[in-house]
Amino acid sequence: MGVTQLKTASHSSVKDAPDVEQAVRAILADIELNGDDAARKYAERFDGYSGNLILTRDEIDAASASLDMQLKDDIRYAYDNVRNFAEAQKATIGDFEVELRPGLFAGQRAIPCNTAGCYVPGGRYAHIASALMTVTTAKVAGVSNIIACSPPQKGTGVHPAIIYTADLCGADRILAMGGVQGVAAMANGLFGLPKADILVGPGNQFVAEAKRILFGRVGIDMFAGPTDSLIIADGTADPEFVAWDLVGQAEHGYNSPVWLVTDDRALAEQVMARVPELIATLPELNARNAAAAWRDYAEVFLCDDREDMAALSDRMAPEHLHVQAADRDWWLRRLTCYGSLFLGEETTVAFGDKASGTNHVLPTSGAARYTGGLSVHKYMKLVTWQRALPDAVVPLAEATARISRMEGMEGHARTADIRLEKYRKSA
Ligand code: NAD
Repeated sequence: MGVTQLKTASHSSVKDAPDVEQAVRAILADIELNGDDAARKYAERFDGYSGNLILTRDEIDAASASLDMQLKDDIRYAYDNVRNFAEAQKATIGDFEVELRPGLFAGQRAIPCNTAGCYVPGGRYAHIASALMTVTTAKVAGVSNIIACSPPQKGTGVHPAIIYTADLCGADRILAMGGVQGVAAMANGLFGLPKADILVGPGNQFVAEAKRILFGRVGIDMFAGPTDSLIIADGTADPEFVAWDLVGQAEHGYNSPVWLVTDDRALAEQVMARVPELIATLPELNARNAAAAWRDYAEVFLCDDREDMAALSDRMAPEHLHVQAADRDWWLRRLTCYGSLFLGEETTVAFGDKASGTNHVLPTSGAARYTGGLSVHKYMKLVTWQRALPDAVVPLAEATARISRMEGMEGHARTADIRLEKYRKSA
């Protein structure tokens, strides 16, 4: 494969993840033992918050009243897209029944989980869109109890736009609690909440680690690391768009990798020169995140041709993949490993992150090799059932008995034998 690296990263998000496991285990164990009081203690310690935890209807209405109409219209615009996409997704999951042999029937049912705990991050930025993505999708899946949980800001509580969005999308309860304590409250059913069957949503390394440790006791959507993005650009791409799209995604955090894969050296050089200039125009916190991400985690690759670009991209399996290159249909057919694909400069990852309708909770750190992102499917259990008419029992029982005996499982074989005895007679 013809690939030259024009910019290297000094760090790797996956290897640099700090060891937070011990700290998270200690908090989870304390909360499991001491329940509501322990969770409250950590809310005070980490978020300086001792206010009301389960929001009342009056608090929800007050949050809605405090927002301007334009923002509410924008949130509703995004909500309609996310809901319509999720509904189309749901239509692809069906119950079915098949007759496998004469008289032997098997089927599948798609049954939603009872209770979903949707984590909506809120530490660094107010992630309105995470409420849209997690709560709406759970609602469309048919989940009966939906809890939205988000960290309170010091002194002011959960951001009003997050409260408004969670309520609009169908959250049954809103818990003002963040981090490990928020996740644990949903998993353990604290503060009168129903125990979550599945925990979903992005979050920082403490949130991700808590979900990872609790997995098994509850379901989770995925184990998420820092967000990452890759742009494939050829000579037809506009370097200004490519540079902004890299900067926009580097803003997520100091350790959020952005990658450029191109077959055009001149474009790569223009983009690499332009990115620091654009970062310098951002507000201070955003610029600090983006500058660190660009300096320490970003990489730029020069490939010989589009096949090499596609193969490299598939190996990296980015969370977000943006193609700004000719022949979009070829790329759509060829690329196989990504969380979400953005085709052409008319779209951008921020559209998918906020409003276009596809889900923004996506596999990071190469997990796109084996999974897609959050979808209606993640909230649904595909369960199976079977039944047999008397005529189908004999051959089925004979085969089962022989296989069971071969395996040394005599008890299994006997359950087949008693049916053989009864149904041979009646056949
Ligand atoms: P967050 O809500 O995930 O975390 C805030 C919480 O972290 C606080 O409530 C606090 O309790 C806890 N915390 C902070 N320091 C702690 C410590 N030392 N010990 C224990 N707990 C501690 O918000 P955030 O920190 O801003 O992170 C948001 C994350 O979500 C980012 O990594 C962002 O990239 C990610 N994100 C991803 C997507 C996606 O779809 N991939 C979308 C939005 C956000």
